[in-house]
Amino acid sequence: MYSAGRQFLQIPGPTNTPLPILAALAKPTIDHRGPEFGALGREVLEGVKEVFATEQPVVIYPASGTGAWEAALVNTLSPGDTVLMYQSGWFATLWRKMAEKLGLKVELLEGDWRSGVDAARIWAVLAEDKAHRIKAVCAVHNETSTGVTSDIAALRRAMDTTGHPALLMVDTISSLGSIDYRHDEWGVDVTVGGSQKGLMLPPGLSFNAVSQKARAAGKTARMPRSFWDWEDMIAANVNGFFPYTPATNMLQALKVALDMLREEGLPNVFSRHKRAAEATRAAVRHWGFETQCAVDAEHSPSLTAVRLPEGHSADALRAQILTNSNMPLGNGLGQLADRVFRIGHLGDFHDLMVTGTLSGVEMGLAACGIPHRAGGVDAAMRSLAGNNAPGGLLKGSAA
Ligand SMILES: *Cc1c(COP(=O)(O)O)cnc(C)c1O
Repeated sequence: MYSAGRQFLQIPGPTNTPLPILAALAKPTIDHRGPEFGALGREVLEGVKEVFATEQPVVIYPASGTGAWEAALVNTLSPGDTVLMYQSGWFATLWRKMAEKLGLKVELLEGDWRSGVDAARIWAVLAEDKAHRIKAVCAVHNETSTGVTSDIAALRRAMDTTGHPALLMVDTISSLGSIDYRHDEWGVDVTVGGSQKGLMLPPGLSFNAVSQKARAAGKTARMPRSFWDWEDMIAANVNGFFPYTPATNMLQALKVALDMLREEGLPNVFSRHKRAAEATRAAVRHWGFETQCAVDAEHSPSLTAVRLPEGHSADALRAQILTNSNMPLGNGLGQLADRVFRIGHLGDFHDLMVTGTLSGVEMGLAACGIPHRAGGVDAAMRSLAGNNAPGGLLKGSAA
């Protein structure tokens, strides 16, 4: 049945796909071995480096983010190797499960799902590991299940002070193109990204930004790999081509997404996300709820996970909002099932979408009889007005 008006897809990925990207996807598919494709390939392979803040190769797969996780592991490690993982939330847990399925040994540092990676704990484990048994440290930059962002630069510094040679692998699937991230400057060895969140594309592409050190590890790594092999990709990519049929139309759309991000300017994109997050938290505080993130400096700019008061069902609230406002919100994952709902505020998103999203939530709270203080949307509007011009937040004058 036709449902009037645009759906607000406010899950933290996939995100709303803007019209220029939908138009690019609708263009005729081109010959992936022809000259037109070669030019496109070279352009996107070069252009995508900007969002990773890297000069090093970025490998692009026709796969969801999970595929790029697998690529990171199989290109650098050998069966039985030990990796150190930090369980910041649900996505860190999934990555660990994959590592175990692939035959790696996982040493897990349990987190509380309310704060980010504790660099001091990583430091302590690496400092003890005199035999260098641990081959890689894996962390999630923006934990999409909790709305917590981790300080990757601090993690790198902690690793460096031990002199331990482990590789650093970081999942940026829900932060790439929405939260400041620097592959080279922060000394990350493999950065894992996906298309369907900050990049505003549909699901279907994923990425590995790879350091020299990660490629060198690949020379002796014995995990079987074929489809995911970086070196086959990087060799073909020199001329803009791929070893197998690439997701041609998605790459045409990626070119448009990169142009859009460049036009807006990445620093402005990042501050736009912070504005939206700040306004969302102003509403949540006003309603009288807690965010899942318990550390002020670690609130995610791209999504907010909201804890409902004891005895209320987050899933019932989401179902009500979906039916009445045609707005999907993110569910609670793992141990947070039915306890939290998640508001995605990333990708192609502006002030009126912030307030529209929050009014959908506030109407849902009232309809479900969940006790709250009315007027959260007003609090969000005051926050947006205080952080005046788009892109103005935290630039000094407007903050
Ligand atoms: C969305 C997401 C994933 C999963 O990616 P898929 O594209 O579903 O395979 C992994 N990690 C994080 C942090 C995510 O937000």
